Amino acid sequence: MLEKVEGFNMEKVIEEFEEVTKDAGRVQIETLRKILEDNSEAEYLQNLGLNGRTDPQSFKNCVPLVTHKELEPYINRMIDGDLSSILTSKPITTMSLSSGTTQGKPKFVPWNDELFETTVQIYKTSFAFRNKEFPITSGKALSFIYSSKQFKTKGGLAAGTATTNVFRNSRYTVAMQALKSQCCSPEEVIFGPDFHQSLYCHLLCGLIFCDEVQFVSSTFAHSIVHSFRTFEQVWEDLVADIRDGVLSERVTVPSLRNAMSKILKSDPNLANIIQTKIMGLSNWYGLIQELFPNAKYVYGIMTGSMEPYLKKLRHYAGDLPLLTSDYGSSEGWIATNVNPTLPPESALYTVLPQIGYFEFIPQNKGDSDFIDVEPEPVGLTQVKVGQEYEIVITTPAGLYRYRLGDIVKVMGFYNSSPQLKFVRRSSLLLTINIDKNTEKDLQLAVEEASKFLAEEKLEVVDYTSYVDVSKDPGHYVIVWEISGEASEEVLSECCNCLDKSFVDAGYTSSRKVNCIGALELRVVRHGTFQKILEHYIGLGSAVSQFKTPRCVGSNNAKVLQILNENVVNKYISSAFNN
Ligand code: AMP
Repeated sequence: MLEKVEGFNMEKVIEEFEEVTKDAGRVQIETLRKILEDNSEAEYLQNLGLNGRTDPQSFKNCVPLVTHKELEPYINRMIDGDLSSILTSKPITTMSLSSGTTQGKPKFVPWNDELFETTVQIYKTSFAFRNKEFPITSGKALSFIYSSKQFKTKGGLAAGTATTNVFRNSRYTVAMQALKSQCCSPEEVIFGPDFHQSLYCHLLCGLIFCDEVQFVSSTFAHSIVHSFRTFEQVWEDLVADIRDGVLSERVTVPSLRNAMSKILKSDPNLANIIQTKIMGLSNWYGLIQELFPNAKYVYGIMTGSMEPYLKKLRHYAGDLPLLTSDYGSSEGWIATNVNPTLPPESALYTVLPQIGYFEFIPQNKGDSDFIDVEPEPVGLTQVKVGQEYEIVITTPAGLYRYRLGDIVKVMGFYNSSPQLKFVRRSSLLLTINIDKNTEKDLQLAVEEASKFLAEEKLEVVDYTSYVDVSKDPGHYVIVWEISGEASEEVLSECCNCLDKSFVDAGYTSSRKVNCIGALELRVVRHGTFQKILEHYIGLGSAVSQFKTPRCVGSNNAKVLQILNENVVNKYISSAFNN
């Protein structure tokens, strides 16, 4: 197995990718056959009467579309220690905990070695294409990655977030070395028990190895922005540590102190260089480029719910290009970025037909005749350009026809494999009666309204929303954390603009007749979203996979409490008053 990643050969990886995408239809049939044959002993499949058939049509006829909810009884048995062949022939011994920040609570999904293989496959493919355009020499990566705690379930299975399961695999470091993407921080920092201390050490390692850093990355872009916001607060301590060769007392975990003592040496010259660079910056513009003169790009997932952080990320990156990484989930990988020169806003993810079996449920948005009729899913090579679909995945880790809950749009084909744009999560965010607003609608409204803040050189640090139906009529509440203090006048304008920017006909018509009340903008104290992040980490999420929940459900009492306790100002829209 090891030679596969050690002998990384860029041309060969690209050649293989060309081959499988040219024959995507056949590769999909093969992949499905292999998954079904490998798991023919699984109780779940045996009960569905496939009787050894592995062709797509029989699969479609016998196996139902499912969500996580339907699989929960099976997954719970595994968590409780049932080691029979439940979803896979070879019993599952590890679980991934999905971040759950989009749906309120983390959920368990099966993890196995085959998923690790697909992870390496995806990383290799995107690296080969990325390195063609932005070659990196041997060096290091400043990667803000964190392993969450791995724990045992009631029945003794190992469990951790999917990224944790990847980082903990003994082959991970070897694979990253082969991809010239070795993290500049020691393992103890990645596996440290305290996220704040690990982040501080990541930043310190980045500075110590600043000339060797070839790129700056994290799994999701939020984490990079969060790291450099923290840098703004702690840079003086970091510089002092380098000047004196003594680690700040804020790092108390012995394993971290021990690991850092091996690389931190007094270097007044470096400390002066860093200090001079920072003093020369205007409002932190170009910080990443300035600190890491040999960095070629900034890398991480930058689409979907990460788009709101792009502006800030560009500000920190200066002239360095932003490259979005791959598309996947704790449940399994889907697609890779083989067009690294495209900006994240127009990123395309090309499906790897050999890593899973994919189906696509057409979306009939806006076509009310179809709303209650579930359209038939189509296969990978039958999708149409311009059409939006919900993704259904079948993975080598025991998920069969699993609705992932993501909506993508087909933008074109790479050979015969579709290239996707990530559109949004499928669940509706804001709805009170006939109105329907998604996370994308909310994002657009926030972007529009925050233009008023930009005039005052302020920005929205983070945002979320919920519906308040405690009084009739119910209304939308949008919660903002802002980078400084804005005037009452500007915030009232932002509030009206938010209300006007939800252009869904169900919303505007309901607002006009007051079936939905005036939108409320609540501004929360600095640090509120950090508290939300910490709440999720406490639940077992990893910072690496954190996504701010864009809509807080009424059952999410803790997050609602954090938001309510930190409100500094409330504004009610007058946009529909006349
Ligand atoms: P997790 O729950 O942490 O496994 O997160 C998986 C989810 O993150 C996916 O179902 C998507 O909604 C989102 N996601 C993952 N990769 C991307 C990407 N490249 N672009 C946009 N969203 C993504």
